[in-house]
Amino acid sequence: MTVPPVRQLSGTGPQLDAMSRPSSAGGGGLGAGKAGGGKHGGAGGASVAAAAAGVSSVAGSGSAPPSSTVSMPATGLAGQSSELTALFECPVCFDYVLPPILQCQAGHLVCNQCRQKLSCCPTCRGPLTPSIRNLAMEKVASTLPFPCKYSSAGCPLSLHHSEKPDHEEVCEFRPYTCPCPGATCKWHGSLEAVMPHLMHAHKSITTLQGEDIVFLATDINLPGAVDWVMMQSCFSHHFMLVLEKQEKYEGHQQFFAVVLLIGTRKQAENFAYRLELNGNRRRLTWEATPRSIHDGVAAAIMNSDCLVFDTSIAHLFADNGNLGINVTISMC
Ligand SMILES: [Zn+2]
Ligand SMILES: [Zn+2]
Ligand SMILES: [Zn+2]
Ligand SMILES: [Zn+2]
Repeated sequence: MTVPPVRQLSGTGPQLDAMSRPSSAGGGGLGAGKAGGGKHGGAGGASVAAAAAGVSSVAGSGSAPPSSTVSMPATGLAGQSSELTALFECPVCFDYVLPPILQCQAGHLVCNQCRQKLSCCPTCRGPLTPSIRNLAMEKVASTLPFPCKYSSAGCPLSLHHSEKPDHEEVCEFRPYTCPCPGATCKWHGSLEAVMPHLMHAHKSITTLQGEDIVFLATDINLPGAVDWVMMQSCFSHHFMLVLEKQEKYEGHQQFFAVVLLIGTRKQAENFAYRLELNGNRRRLTWEATPRSIHDGVAAAIMNSDCLVFDTSIAHLFADNGNLGINVTISMC
């Protein structure tokens, strides 16, 4: 819900050329390949290309994990870097204390997230305010690679602290959250556990088999924010179809329709989907790469990387308050 990860990625750390070059070079190459296909026109194509670039820069850095550590400017420190990074461990959450680094009056460090919840230093119980900045430690932090937050889940990457948050936002090892739109379900777990979770906890979601189906949303005139969700199974994969009605801009209700793959971003690149509203001698079509559920519905809607239409268009195609959307999924 915070910053769109895609937009952040390509522009990370302008001041850190040595670090950002290997990953962005890899990403650019892969991203250009995908975007070069040029299947998607206009704004849709732009969003799809942006998403591909975001994904592939991760893949790029993932394929060469040592490069980020090797290319560290302080080669003399590289051998001792794990001992040094240990000095940055927060005594409360064991995550790293990263710039801006603040210390208590006796010099103990605590990370900025924990600091906001604490009334005194967890080490010496001394006062945390007024905060004292530790520029020397910040300088040391800038010469060290820090392991990704999800290293215990298998992520091999170590990154400059300025690149860490953006990477962790898109890290393939980040746990998956429940893909159902709306924030009611707090479940999270591995990718393999997503389908069992949906079948167990969201039994009301219907599944249709086949590459070409009709997603029939009923009662589209219901007031307020509404979601329609169903599953489509084909090509040995499961896709989640979401139609969401919401007021992104005040007083202006819009519909957003999107297809998400129950899978990784990399797997999603193997597919394309088409949504089509058809009827009354009119047709509205949207084609794109499915989003991974790792990105979620909210990111697709925020970036308008989906079929977007307003209520009057919905009425042009609706029949008795029911809207049929033809969904076609193909492999590419
Ligand atoms: Zn902490
Ligand atoms: Zn202290
Ligand atoms: Zn990671
Ligand atoms: Zn759930």
